[in-house]
Formats: sequence, structure tokens, C-alpha cells
Amino acid sequence: TYVIGLPCVDVKDRACVEECPVDCIYEGERTLYIHPEECVDCGACEPVCPVEAIYYEDDLPGDQEKFLDINAEFFNEL
Ligand code: SF4
Repeated sequence: TYVIGLPCVDVKDRACVEECPVDCIYEGERTLYIHPEECVDCGACEPVCPVEAIYYEDDLPGDQEKFLDINAEFFNEL
């Protein structure tokens, strides 16, 4: 799955939402989230993010690895 990291917090540009072919990017209070089971790993969202907040899960910078869990928790709460 692709994951939205720290740069999105309080930015929520939403360019990725327009780009996602399966509409799996959801809006939370302070950031956007990618549904890990709905994401088809197409990568279309990554280059359009103006703050470069989107990473493939294996490419998350070390200090942002926690966003994988933060993301999963968001969807468990739905
Ligand atoms: Fe949507 Fe593709 Fe981005 Fe996954 S990688 S969130 S399917 S645009």
C-alpha cells in the first residue's frame, strides 16, 4: 500500500484524491489517509502531491514509519 506521511498534516491539498482511480483516499480531521486494502499500488497519487507526503510503504523515511500504523488505526475506527 501507499501511505500518507507527516507533510500532509494540516495541509490536505487533496490533489491525490482527484488522481486515485479507486477512490481509496479518505479525509480525516488533520490529514488524508489511504485505505491499505483498497489501494491498488498504482502510484498515481505520489507525484501529484505538492508537499511530497505520499510514499510506498517500504520507502517511508524512518521517522515516518509510524504513519503506517496511524493509517491502519484510522480505518479500524471507521
Ligand atoms: Fe490510489 Fe493508486 Fe495512490 Fe493507491 S497508489 S492511493 S490506488 S492513487
